[in-house]
Amino acid sequence: TADSIPKTQKVVLIDGVGDYDVIKYQDSAVPSIGDNELLIKNKYAGINFIEAYFRKGIYPVQLPQILGREATGVVVAKGQSVKNFDIGDKVAYMSSSTFAQYTKYSSSGLISKLPSETTDDQLKVYAAALIQGLTALTFLDEAYKVKEGDYILLYAAAGGVGLLMDQLLKERGAHAIAVVSTEEKEELAKKFGAEYVINSSKEDILKRALEITNDKGVDAVFDSVGKDTFDISLNALKLKGSFVSFGNASGPVPPFALSRLSSKNIRLMRPTLFGYLAEPEDWDHYSKKLFELIDSGKLKIAITKTYPLSEYKIATQELESRKTTGKLVLEIPQ
Ligand code: NDP
Repeated sequence: TADSIPKTQKVVLIDGVGDYDVIKYQDSAVPSIGDNELLIKNKYAGINFIEAYFRKGIYPVQLPQILGREATGVVVAKGQSVKNFDIGDKVAYMSSSTFAQYTKYSSSGLISKLPSETTDDQLKVYAAALIQGLTALTFLDEAYKVKEGDYILLYAAAGGVGLLMDQLLKERGAHAIAVVSTEEKEELAKKFGAEYVINSSKEDILKRALEITNDKGVDAVFDSVGKDTFDISLNALKLKGSFVSFGNASGPVPPFALSRLSSKNIRLMRPTLFGYLAEPEDWDHYSKKLFELIDSGKLKIAITKTYPLSEYKIATQELESRKTTGKLVLEIPQ
C-alpha cells in the first residue's frame, strides 16, 4: 500500500565526474510518480560498463545521477492513467536510476510484466540479462547480420556481453574468434562456444586473426574496446568487411580520416542498443526473443558475482580493472 512506501531510500549515485570517489551510497528521496508512471520496488539490478562511461564523463549525464540502467522488481504504486500494470506485478525493465530501492518509470517504456510465479532466482537472471542480452541479440541481427560460416572477431569475449555473443555466434553457425586477456577467460569463452581464442596478453591479435582466416581477414568485427584496438580491428577485416564499434573500455576511438575505410570498402557502424529499441514493437520483439532463449535454456546467463547495493563501487573497480567475467548483479536491500 501507499502507506508502506517510505519517504527516503538508499541509492548509489555519482555527484561529479571523475574517479571512483564520486560514487556515493546514500539516502535520497523516493520519487513521486505522474499519471502514466509506475513506482517499482527493485529486487535486483544489473551492472554494466556504461556506468563507468557516465562517471568518467565519456557519456555526459545530469549530476547528481543515480546510476543503473536495468532491474527487476515489483510495482508498488501507479499513476491514475496506468491500465497495463497493477500493483503487485513483477516486472523486468530498462530505465535509468535502478541502483536504488525504488525507481519511477513510464508504464509505456522498456518494461515487461513477468508471471506472478516468477521466483527470486529468475528475477535475478532477468535483471542480469536485459541490457547485455538485448545488445547481443540486436547487434548480431541489425548492426551486422551474422551468417552461417562467417568469421567474427570479438573482444572481451569472457565478459558480460561477450559470453552471450559467444553462444549466439555458435548457434548461428559462425566461427567466433574470441579475444580475452587471461587463461581463465580463454577457458570460459571456449566453454560458451567460441571456436578460436586469442590471448591478448601473450599473442598478436592481428597476426592470429589473419592466420585463422588464411590471410583473408574476418567478415565482421565486434569491437567494444575502442581506442586500443581500432587499428587492429580495421586491419583484421576482409575486403567488404563490417566493423561494428560499440564501446570504449580502453577509451573512445579518436577522430580518423574516413578514407581509411576505402582501401577495403569497409562498412563501419557505431550503434547503441537504444537505437534498436526505439519503437514499442522493437521491445516486444527482442525482449520476447530474449526471454524465450533464457527460459528454454538455449542462452545461459553467467552471473559470476552478486554484490549488495552498498558495494557497487567495489564491483565496478573489479569490472573496470578487467578482473571479472560474465555478469555482475546488485542485490537491492528490501
Ligand atoms: P565486460 O564484462 O565485457 O567488461 C569489459 C571487458 O573489456 C573486460 O573484462 C576486458 O576483457 C575488456 N577490456 C579490454 N580492454 C580493456 C580496458 N582497457 N579496460 C577495461 N576493460 C578492457 O563489460 P560489459 O559486458 O558490461 O560490456 C562490454 C562492452 O560492451 C563495453 O565496452 C560496453 O560499453 C559495451 N556495450 C555497448 C553497448 C552499446 O549500446 N553500444 C551496450 C552494452 C555494452 P579482457 O580482459 O578479456 O580483455
